Amino acid sequence: MKHNREYEIAWQGLKPGPHTFEYDIEDRFMREHGADEELKSWGGRVTLTFDKHENFFMLNFDIDGTVTVPCDRCGDDFPLRLWDEFDLVIKLTGGDEGEKPEDEDDVVFIPRSETVIDMSAWVYEFVMLSVPLQHIHPDNAEGKPGCNEEALKLLNQMGDSESHTANTLWKGLEALKEVKKEPKTKKTK
Ligand SMILES: [Zn+2]
Repeated sequence: MKHNREYEIAWQGLKPGPHTFEYDIEDRFMREHGADEELKSWGGRVTLTFDKHENFFMLNFDIDGTVTVPCDRCGDDFPLRLWDEFDLVIKLTGGDEGEKPEDEDDVVFIPRSETVIDMSAWVYEFVMLSVPLQHIHPDNAEGKPGCNEEALKLLNQMGDSESHTANTLWKGLEALKEVKKEPKTKKTK
């Protein structure tokens, strides 16, 4: 993975207590870490609160951004609001030697000898997690779907013919079942 100074926190130099770091959400950064090309025009900011304690750090990633995505329903691009926050606890372990405990949910273990912690993978991961699974145009001011009307009309037409096909197929299957039953009843004669 690429190392990015910007995302490194040299925690030994920090006083105990909360510290704030801000990271811009940018196309280049998101792409480099593997974001899908369908997701574009990333913008906004991640605010990290890094609360330093003696043997552990409490982190809060606050995401406030936007990304442009194609709508799942009509296919037109639209800006999606990203608004979420995530907590993470980093526990310091004894040193290089000795067993490193397994990471748990929301808790990672880092040897005390690791004096610089790279935040970039977490920043990326949490921004990605803040992207809703469903990408659908929000309703417009009149409470109607904000989708491309022409595309919706076309989709509705396709939807109708699809359910028609499904119906015909179903009837066909029913007919087939009847045919299969018939030979048995005929055998008895
Ligand atoms: Zn749409």
